[in-house]
Amino acid sequence: MPTMRAMLLDAAHSPLHLVKLPIPMPGAGQVLLKVSACGVCHTDLHILDGELTEPKLPLVLGHQIVGRVVQSGPGSLHFQVGERVGVPWLGATDGTCRYCLRGQENLCDHPTFTGYDVDGGFAEYTLADERFCFSLPTAYSDVEVAPLLCAGLIGYRTYRMAGENVETLGIYGFGAAAHIITQVAKHAGKRVYAFTRPGDTEAQAFALRQGADWAGDSTQLPPEKLDAALIFAPVGPLVVSALQATHKGGVVVSGGIHMSDIPSFPYSLLWEERVIRSVANLTRRDGEEFLALAPQVPVKADVKVFALEQAGQALEQLRHGQFTGAAVLDLNLT
Ligand SMILES: [Zn+2]
Ligand SMILES: [Zn+2]
Repeated sequence: MPTMRAMLLDAAHSPLHLVKLPIPMPGAGQVLLKVSACGVCHTDLHILDGELTEPKLPLVLGHQIVGRVVQSGPGSLHFQVGERVGVPWLGATDGTCRYCLRGQENLCDHPTFTGYDVDGGFAEYTLADERFCFSLPTAYSDVEVAPLLCAGLIGYRTYRMAGENVETLGIYGFGAAAHIITQVAKHAGKRVYAFTRPGDTEAQAFALRQGADWAGDSTQLPPEKLDAALIFAPVGPLVVSALQATHKGGVVVSGGIHMSDIPSFPYSLLWEERVIRSVANLTRRDGEEFLALAPQVPVKADVKVFALEQAGQALEQLRHGQFTGAAVLDLNLT
């Protein structure tokens, strides 16, 4: 039986380790992909740390997958062999629950998440439901486009939830999603204020290079009030900081899947029609819209590349904020 290299998670808190697994066979509606690149996301860290509590185990992480179709399962007609596709976090839905029927498939009652409910892209091959794969813009290399598949498109959904009337945008937590969304927001003519961990002057310099108008510590107030704030760090107190920085009617959107507790705060911070909301997952429409928009901006992700075997190191460096931009496993490196 032909095998592939994969980085396997046996249980929460145990390090990923390199194994040989059988190359899976595509079932009905699936495609088998040869993975060329896979982004590393904070959600992977939440799974590793047991903060997302119900992963399939053992598990291959990774939900920003760029690969080429090597085989189609029975009835899979959408993509040709050799075609390049992207696989995001939303791997499948039931298509029948109240949310799916209302066009809110991101909230599906029975979703399948890539690299959580099914094996993902920290491996040489993976399976995907072809209905949830994206065609990818040709302007990007495999490594460049990988971070657009989660940091980019969930970042974009978060940005969209801030609404139309935004001239001043705050971004809290300046990593993969933030640097992509800063480029999108500047392209749309907004003023962008970037907030980092206190004292992280490297991330602040990075934010300014991405086009932010100002960068400072998350404990600071921006030089002018914000119409909206996006939070990409899993740190509950940032919700209160962001509320303090917003105009009347301002919107605070949390883009992460997990966050530490939000401390209590006086009602006066929420008063005057300020709004706090979260963003969960993505719809295929988000992906199509963002992947069409990205080359027009053009979004250019700042990528730190790791080999497949270095997936564990990539996650630890992400945890400790040891690089700027987005981490990507390049399957062509050994
Ligand atoms: Zn992600
Ligand atoms: Zn559903």
